[in-house]
Amino acid sequence: KNKISAMGDVDNVRVAVRIRPLVPSERDLGCQEAVERVGDSPQVIVNRSDTFTFNYVFDARDTQDYIYDVTVTDLLEKFFSGFNATILAYGQTGSGKTHTMGTAYNGALDENAGIIPRIMRDIFERIQKLVGEFEFVVKCSFMELYQEQLYDLLSDQPREQAIVEMRENRNGVVMPGLTEMLVYSAGETAECLLRGSTGRAVAATAMNEQSSRSHAIFTITVEATKKDELSTVTTSKFHLVDLAGSERSKKTQATGDRFKEGVKINQGLLALGNVISALGSGQGSGFVRYRDSKLTRLLQDSLGGNSITLMIACVSPADYNVAETLGTLRYADRAR
Ligand code: ADP
Ligand code: MG
Repeated sequence: KNKISAMGDVDNVRVAVRIRPLVPSERDLGCQEAVERVGDSPQVIVNRSDTFTFNYVFDARDTQDYIYDVTVTDLLEKFFSGFNATILAYGQTGSGKTHTMGTAYNGALDENAGIIPRIMRDIFERIQKLVGEFEFVVKCSFMELYQEQLYDLLSDQPREQAIVEMRENRNGVVMPGLTEMLVYSAGETAECLLRGSTGRAVAATAMNEQSSRSHAIFTITVEATKKDELSTVTTSKFHLVDLAGSERSKKTQATGDRFKEGVKINQGLLALGNVISALGSGQGSGFVRYRDSKLTRLLQDSLGGNSITLMIACVSPADYNVAETLGTLRYADRAR
């Protein structure tokens, strides 16, 4: 596939697969490992028969730190040169999306910390080095998309009043009233994340584990103004998305409302898959159907064009989950 973007020689859509270790509940069920990396190559083999190739493949031996280094470091470089960036974690519930992204941040930047807290650390580290030359404004927002309804996780209002509308104007998609917190350090950004994830967890317990059916979107916006050229402002947006569980509603034996939820989420993930696949195949932007879901409309400014996308497809290694794992690998394969 031709992956030359509008910017030239940039590989603008990358796909990583992460195979997590067997978890205790899978061991208790007597599960065997049926999903493996092929040697040190970026290939996955399922049941020793089906192979898939990606940009990166990680397995249980790979640490959070290593995965961050390999996939995010140069993305951050691009971000600071004016690109928008999106990292998406895709996969069935329990496959490791939240662990990988670090969406449920507990405040400790230790070896278990996921991508989001590490990015915050590095964004502010870079800013420190550039403050002589540039003036920076950093903002963050945190949203949850559930049943095509957007919730502002940083709002002071109760959840029912924290619904955000999406409008389109000449500058693209805008969300009037969305809380954008000004942040001056990695610590303050982490507080936003912590506050939002706490609100989300509370809502999840109260409403049938809603978090596995909703998308969590954490966005960091950096505005840089060159001190000797005050008219030149560069704005870059970094979206970090912990997607809804990709499992089909059949397996969860959903009925009624739950079934409806499943169908809606799959529409969002389907639209996203179509957009990323169209971008990766180098088609003109006219063919990219962003309007098919709120998720793709929301991410439109950071998918395609002047932006870089990394999708991390998370999978369980267990034989018990092979059907879902194959679904995830096929989805990720279309994106590549
Ligand atoms: P998801 O967000 O996709 O539903 P989680 O990130 O919550 O999945 O992971 C499910 C469980 O598996 C959690 O207990 C998590 O700690 C564990 N887990 C996920 N990935 C790894 C990993 N790479 N190493 C160790 N444990 C992991
Ligand atoms: Mg999760």
